[in-house]
Amino acid sequence: MNILVCGGAGYIGSHMVAYLLENGHDVVILDNLQTGHKDSLLGGKLYIGDLKDNEILDKVFTENKIDAVIDFAANSLVGESVENPLKYFDNNIGSTINLLEAMNRHNIKYIVFSSTAATYGEPENIPILEQDKTFPTNPYGESKLAVEKILKWCDKAYGIKYTALRYFNACGAHINGNIGEDHEPESHLIPIILQAALGKREKIMIFGDDYNTEDGTCVRDYVHVSDLASAHLLALKRLKNGGESKIYNLGNGKGFSVKEVVDVARKVTGINIKAEIAARRAGDPATLIASSEKAIKELGWEPKFNSLETIIETAWKWHKNHLNGYEK
Ligand code: UDP
Repeated sequence: MNILVCGGAGYIGSHMVAYLLENGHDVVILDNLQTGHKDSLLGGKLYIGDLKDNEILDKVFTENKIDAVIDFAANSLVGESVENPLKYFDNNIGSTINLLEAMNRHNIKYIVFSSTAATYGEPENIPILEQDKTFPTNPYGESKLAVEKILKWCDKAYGIKYTALRYFNACGAHINGNIGEDHEPESHLIPIILQAALGKREKIMIFGDDYNTEDGTCVRDYVHVSDLASAHLLALKRLKNGGESKIYNLGNGKGFSVKEVVDVARKVTGINIKAEIAARRAGDPATLIASSEKAIKELGWEPKFNSLETIIETAWKWHKNHLNGYEK
């Protein structure tokens, strides 16, 4: 297939591009490089531009015979979304509407959309099922949920088939060690822990130890970025084979507390990473664990890097060899 990856120079997008190339597909990338990195692209044809720009969208769809779209292009910082909700509604919803309009103009019928566990908010049940209540506790989750709803109506009206994939905690790096996570500023747990291991920060702050969990720290379901990539391709193939539009959770179905993650990282790195308890971070639910049974059963998804140790090993390999991330 010839696949357009929007936001393909970002963390998950770049692993998607790598995975598609490894599996013999042609890849076109559209990224405004606002948070993405050119050097994260191991191949493909890059267009630098914004999803809000109809001219570049028409150029991409005219110059390439695109079979399907995978859309990662979004702002994704929960804290920032609370402070600046309009930026999130404008960028995350507005851009996707523009992309869908362009798909319509060029008669493209398949899209896999990058959604999030943040669509659920504070969960009713653990593990979380796709049909559980969605009540986002921040504008980021709200913007993704809104797009899921827009996709549903676009399917009905225009026959655009979609799969929305709700990721839990994306982490790890490509096993080749050449691409990985590089956010500025970094806010995610595993890269922060590894930065502390590398002496780039003095310690890691554990946000709250008074949650209703076994050791009092938040529990999350960590899923390897290359496993997320494999699920996208399976989802696309299912749509191409006539599958209906659907939503799937992607996680490993296993929860680790923040303290447990720090312990595993100490073991993997052999470094006694310093950790200190700090106040809770606003908007953090105590426990988020996915049921990914639906993706396993219907997509035939088989996560390969499903041990936290392996996940952290891959991230460690990347961080150790790219002390300052990608070239800026
Ligand atoms: N966390 C933490 N210290 C940090 C960064 C994150 O204790 O410096 C916690 C955070 O409160 C959450 C978990 O680690 O419970 C995972 O956070 P992350 O930002 O990586 O992902 P999120 O769960 O927000 O998607």
